[in-house]
Amino acid sequence: MQGRSYKDLRREVWDTNRCCGCGACIAVCPADALIFTPEENSHPYNRIYCKEATDEVPCGACYEVCPRVKMIQGRGLLGDYRSIVSAKAGIDIPQRQSGGAVTAILADALDNDLIDAVVTVSEDRFTLKPQSVVITSSGELIAHAGSRYAWWVPLLAALKTAVLERKCRKIAVIGLPCVTEAVAEMKASENDLVRPFARSIRLVLGLFCTETFDYNHLVQGIIERRYQLQPHDIRRLDMKMGFLITKTDGETLTIPLKELNEAVRPGCRICTDLTARSADISAGSVGSDSGYTTLIIRSGAGEAFLQSAISSGALLIEGDVDEKAIESLAAKKAARGIPKK
Ligand SMILES: Cc1cc2nc3c(=O)[nH]c(=O)nc-3n(C[C@H](O)[C@H](O)[C@H](O)COP(=O)(O)OP(=O)(O)OC[C@H]3O[C@@H](n4cnc5c(N)ncnc54)[C@H](O)[C@@H]3O)c2cc1C
Ligand code: SF4
Ligand code: SF4
Ligand code: SF4
Repeated sequence: MQGRSYKDLRREVWDTNRCCGCGACIAVCPADALIFTPEENSHPYNRIYCKEATDEVPCGACYEVCPRVKMIQGRGLLGDYRSIVSAKAGIDIPQRQSGGAVTAILADALDNDLIDAVVTVSEDRFTLKPQSVVITSSGELIAHAGSRYAWWVPLLAALKTAVLERKCRKIAVIGLPCVTEAVAEMKASENDLVRPFARSIRLVLGLFCTETFDYNHLVQGIIERRYQLQPHDIRRLDMKMGFLITKTDGETLTIPLKELNEAVRPGCRICTDLTARSADISAGSVGSDSGYTTLIIRSGAGEAFLQSAISSGALLIEGDVDEKAIESLAAKKAARGIPKK
């Protein structure tokens, strides 16, 4: 979309609180002109220069990949899919969130050279502060298992590192639904500046998502100040009838979700996709028994990665899926509706 620039994004997405913080615009900007700052992270901002706006050099890459310019609508509650299964890892994954299926599929893919890198989110274990990372070994991926439930991070910014610095060309992206939508926009783009990123992504693994929270607001404002808890005292986080915190001493504490409302990122309030309908494989806990992951297989690529992990014994398919439970949660999220610009 040449002729468009960050100024159009600012008017249509940033100033209307629609930005989901996916980081796609940051990844593809050839001038490295867009950044998030710790102070203002409800959307990126431009640090003065822009090829298109400053020099009238055709670009428009940021506008082209943004999933919030025209939000995807329709496609049913669960989107298109080939099969839905319940699965768990056949390998040991101590930190897994549900059944460890996400880690198992991608660890198998790394070991069998189906992919050369995974772009995902990690955290500082002491502060729980999130960061986007590029992981290239199965051992490292296993050490990073588990959901960074609460913390938002512009995940796709790390795609730039993977593609341009580390020259990875067989990348798997793990992302929340908004991130999978941004990747879909990249793949649909005919912009030469976007194509190297789209071509380098081999698999998109989407995690179910209801919302994410701003780190500063949640940790400093709620967990530390109101509940007198330090991030390094937290061993595990789950969303179970509230925000369930398991402390390092084994004690648990549940924060009611309504108390977290103030920390929800603005872009999440208009998000209607629970199950990552643009992914090759989507993964969540709802619909499966405890200790299992629900997997929605949507594409041929997704099917191929699944079968590889099953054949090597990394992944076990067991049990039934309660599709009604997934649909019910998806319907609640879809009811948020999309406001007019
Ligand atoms: C913010 C958030 C909200 C979620 N909400 C729901 C929900 O409402 N209902 C539901 O059923 N499931 C939800 N999930 C998905 C669920 O928590 C599990 O991630 C999913 O069931 C897969 O479990 P697993 O054991 O197979 O994954 P694991 O084997 O533990 O692997 C998880 C992988 O995801 C990566 N990861 C963790 N956090 C992020 C992140 N924020 N962005 C990108 N990659 C990440 C990790 O690095 C790891 O590689 C949510 C996940 C997140 C991150
Ligand atoms: S240089 Fe291109 S991608 Fe970067 S802000 Fe300008 S139009 Fe957007
Ligand atoms: S939604 Fe993503 S691509 Fe669009 S402005 Fe926000 S961070 Fe950039
Ligand atoms: S609710 Fe989840 S998928 Fe939607 S914008 Fe927020 S983080 Fe992204």
